[in-house]
Amino acid sequence: MTNYYELLSTDVRFREGLTACMNCGVCTAICPAAEFYKYDPRQICNIVQTRDDEQIEALLKSETIWYCGQCMSCKTRCPRGNVPAMIISVLRRFSQDLGFFTYSEKGRQQFALKRTVGDNIINTGYCVHVDTVSPKLHPEQGPVWKWYHENAEEVADRLGANYNKEGGGALRKISKENLDEVKKIFEVTGGANLYDKIELFSKDKAKVLKMGFEETGINNEYFFNAYIENSDNHQK
Ligand code: SF4
Ligand code: SF4
Repeated sequence: MTNYYELLSTDVRFREGLTACMNCGVCTAICPAAEFYKYDPRQICNIVQTRDDEQIEALLKSETIWYCGQCMSCKTRCPRGNVPAMIISVLRRFSQDLGFFTYSEKGRQQFALKRTVGDNIINTGYCVHVDTVSPKLHPEQGPVWKWYHENAEEVADRLGANYNKEGGGALRKISKENLDEVKKIFEVTGGANLYDKIELFSKDKAKVLKMGFEETGINNEYFFNAYIENSDNHQK
């Protein structure tokens, strides 16, 4: 079995984020996610600290590591100077790297995020762009958003935005040169590698679940399942 503690320790965020947890629970007391989810950052620190590979592997496959909102409130309060949020970031990274994220419902949402926000960044330079927030994916936005989406150019003109055009201003088209630079940043920092892993393991999972899968885009069964599936078993 992999020595998960050693593996986690290869990431500087883990070495910085965990010195010695005394299980006081202050991080859980301040944590907004713990207020709503079945979630306890103290317990995550405790499990990691045991160095027990079986328990850490279970954590990497669990729902719980995806509940953190990365607000960093825990960082400000820990009397031992630990940063549970950074430990959780590293657990997420290796859950993606090893394919364990496909074991949990919240983990499988990584694929939906990659195919939306992730691909948006690479393809448009924007995390969220008016063209990619389709009413089909966001029915909660109602008819106003549908109208806006269909008439984006006219609305942007009225607001003085430079919608999808060269030059400066809000909603401007990001140049190829800048997009190439964004891609390069993802390659150098390992983000592109994690994107590839998310794609690869999600495709495998789609096969196991006998769901339709396409190499790109959002028009496929596995994407929509990851995007909308909600067992309602996450809240307290
Ligand atoms: S606040 Fe710090 S020492 Fe206390 S349980 Fe959380 S991580 Fe451990
Ligand atoms: S960063 Fe995560 S674990 Fe820390 S307080 Fe915020 S939600 Fe909780």
